[in-house]
Amino acid sequence: MSTLRSSLFEAINRLQPELSPSAQAQLTIPMGVVQQRRQAFEDRIRQHRHEPNYILIERALRNTDELIRQDRTYADQLRLAEAIGLRSLPPYLRDFLRDHDNLHRATVRSRLFADTAATNTAIDIFARVEVRIIHLRNVYSLNIIRETRSQAERIRMRKDPALMKEMHDCTDVLVDEIYRVLHRYEQLQALLPEETELENVGPDHNVNDFGSDISPAPSYTTTLAGLFETEDDKLDHTQRCCICLDPYTDHPAFKLSLCNHVIGKTCLVTWLNGTARNANCCPFCRAELCTRRARQVSSRTIALQTEEEELNTCFARALGLMHGLDHLANQIYGDDAEATRGAWTGDAVVEINRRCFENGVNFGFTKDVRQSLGWRLRRIEWARGGVLVA
Ligand SMILES: [Zn+2]
Ligand SMILES: [Zn+2]
Repeated sequence: MSTLRSSLFEAINRLQPELSPSAQAQLTIPMGVVQQRRQAFEDRIRQHRHEPNYILIERALRNTDELIRQDRTYADQLRLAEAIGLRSLPPYLRDFLRDHDNLHRATVRSRLFADTAATNTAIDIFARVEVRIIHLRNVYSLNIIRETRSQAERIRMRKDPALMKEMHDCTDVLVDEIYRVLHRYEQLQALLPEETELENVGPDHNVNDFGSDISPAPSYTTTLAGLFETEDDKLDHTQRCCICLDPYTDHPAFKLSLCNHVIGKTCLVTWLNGTARNANCCPFCRAELCTRRARQVSSRTIALQTEEEELNTCFARALGLMHGLDHLANQIYGDDAEATRGAWTGDAVVEINRRCFENGVNFGFTKDVRQSLGWRLRRIEWARGGVLVA
């Protein structure tokens, strides 16, 4: 008997009395039966296939704690389960194996997603980063679990340049996005009107429905007349348009049939189709010419407000992902210690502040321990040299 095989038997014997005699007989059962059992086990695993990764990871971590308590390693346990076969596995070993398989699948799946996401520009940028972070977290968890939570594995991962590069890549994307959001937000504030802009709904009024042209134009006393015009003359609607105060020589006159007031035609068209509350009235006497057209918030304002909301959402998502990265970085590089929390984000925040300062964007992050990230975005003015002025 080979050394490996004999050590497996030893391992199995150590499991006594958990194993039934039939479990030991499993070692010599025909292949067909093993396959049949394997199928039954696969079915059980399939039921758990869609469990969220964090539940798998939590359960697998509990398993490793139990292994450490029993002075066993993850790999030993797998070999043992394999050697015993799948018939009559003790329940704890069955659960262990199920979690192992599920975790393995989850990691393969997340790697596939992450690889696709990294290059697929059709996917939302935050979804892309999120998938990559989830994968990093899975890799971290799987390595920690496989190596039965060994410190050596933590040190190995800490020195892994590929892991570090991926962490930096994800952070860089988020820094770019947060800066882009802040920059655009600043521009939007200047574009958004202070009062809500309105626009009319439906077709424009046809001015000819409300009166008729005066042709020829009312005679306007020319030559020096202006010099002798009284204030009352200036308000004479038959001589001057009450909207623009120009004489009708400059634009055609139009007489309203309801109140007989004369108004400059082009001015009246603009007035009737304007957004003023009383645009349905004679601009001279306020007689109601028609019902007021329905108004709504202008499409330009809606577009700007929608963009503002989108920017808010983007900002929240980017910050949430940054938080996730910081947590992971602290697990890998900071031993999950309270003191090293926020260290990873700190570098990113410095970079965002630098860009805001250099480009005149008046936003910046300041330390705030009450915030989950340890930082708070504030509206600030940058003094010379990038010093914050509250
Ligand atoms: Zn006019
Ligand atoms: Zn009138």
